[in-house]
Amino acid sequence: MDTAEEPIIDEVAAWIASARQVVALTGAGVSTASGIPDFRGPDGLWTKEPDSQRLFSIDAYLSDPEVRAEVWQRRLHNPAFSVGPNAAHMALAALEDRDRLHALVTQNIDGLHQAGGSDPDRVIEIHGTIHEVVCLSCDRRVPAGPVLQQVADGDPDPRCPACGGLQKSATVSFGQSLDPALLQRAHDAVIGCDLLLAVGTSLVVHPVALLPRTALEAGARLVIINAEDTPYDDRADAVLRADAGEVLSAIVAGVDNHQQA
Ligand code: NAD
Repeated sequence: MDTAEEPIIDEVAAWIASARQVVALTGAGVSTASGIPDFRGPDGLWTKEPDSQRLFSIDAYLSDPEVRAEVWQRRLHNPAFSVGPNAAHMALAALEDRDRLHALVTQNIDGLHQAGGSDPDRVIEIHGTIHEVVCLSCDRRVPAGPVLQQVADGDPDPRCPACGGLQKSATVSFGQSLDPALLQRAHDAVIGCDLLLAVGTSLVVHPVALLPRTALEAGARLVIINAEDTPYDDRADAVLRADAGEVLSAIVAGVDNHQQA
């Protein structure tokens, strides 16, 4: 991390220490240090394999058995099932422990915020979770483990045992709607905050990408921690273009200093 960023980190820590309600909005960049690639970063899945975007389209999933078989195989080997949380997840949990983080809206599906110590009741998984499977016909939801075991045992596209419908990871693919109740919770959290911390997200995936605008229009400060430019950099109160884990750990230390002072 650049030493030029230290004064900005200290200022952000002071804002967080005195804020009334802090909300974090996280993306794939908080989990890259755990070994899960993002989509759009330099080592991102789509940067390296542009054709794989098709695997994230609900239309392709519904219409093409080969796409479903490929998606299940990728789910089976997804690193989210084998890696652990990193410094970024831990630092956000540490802010929550200090009553300095009141809600955590995540686009991530990997469950690493909860694994890192965040209260599951405060984590809003707006794009769903890889740890559950849902039937697209009868909405039956089950833990992912047994279904992935069927895939490992040779079933290319396990059907719902209750109704025979197509099953899918309980994640939101392109072309699928977000759960309105979760979107409302995220909106309510953001509209009530006075500081929004956007971390490890390109802020281009809608409708989540509208949340920083909602926060700004409600008068909140916007702090962006991301390795690359985002469309909100010009309107943010602070932009830290550095590793999420390093910056967030330094912010936690700064909050402790400000709270002791
Ligand atoms: P994105 O790929 O669009 O953007 C990630 C951003 O994080 C990039 O701008 C990148 O430069 C930055 N970044 C990467 N590593 C970083 C680090 N160590 N520190 C700071 N910044 C870092 O991801 P997004 O904005 O979350 O949106 C894409 C979609 O990808 C979401 O819908 C999400 O559900 C899905 N996704 C989730 C996971 C996961 O659960 N871990 C992984 C890949 C994609």
